[in-house]
Amino acid sequence: MNKLYQRFREFMRGRNGVDELGRDVCFVSLALALIDTFSRSFSLSVLTTAGYFYSIFRILSRNVTKRINENRVYRIWKSKLLRKLKFFSRRLRDLKDYHYYTCPKCGQKLRVPRGKGKIEVTCPKCGHKFDRNS
Ligand SMILES: [Zn+2]
Repeated sequence: MNKLYQRFREFMRGRNGVDELGRDVCFVSLALALIDTFSRSFSLSVLTTAGYFYSIFRILSRNVTKRINENRVYRIWKSKLLRKLKFFSRRLRDLKDYHYYTCPKCGQKLRVPRGKGKIEVTCPKCGHKFDRNS
């Protein structure tokens, strides 16, 4: 067992290995494979197989610098997407109690309680004041 492990380590030396992008592509491919078992779509099967191959390609790739850069770009993109999803879910949760406005001067998103009538909103970022119905 130890010898097998050593041979595997030797094989993986200088290769990219598992990273966040490869792992996420693999998880998405698994989810698509689950959907594919019910839908039996050819294009979904092709997409699933391509995802698996891409993950394996990333793990075995010797161009580590390029894979690290791709992973870095992916992580930035993913964090932006997660931030937007978090904001959107919070907005959905607060829909009953709050209005969301955008500051006309700086674009800052502002949360204002509903049912207070016509109010003057002051942007905490730039100090701009504007009237809105809440
Ligand atoms: Zn502002």
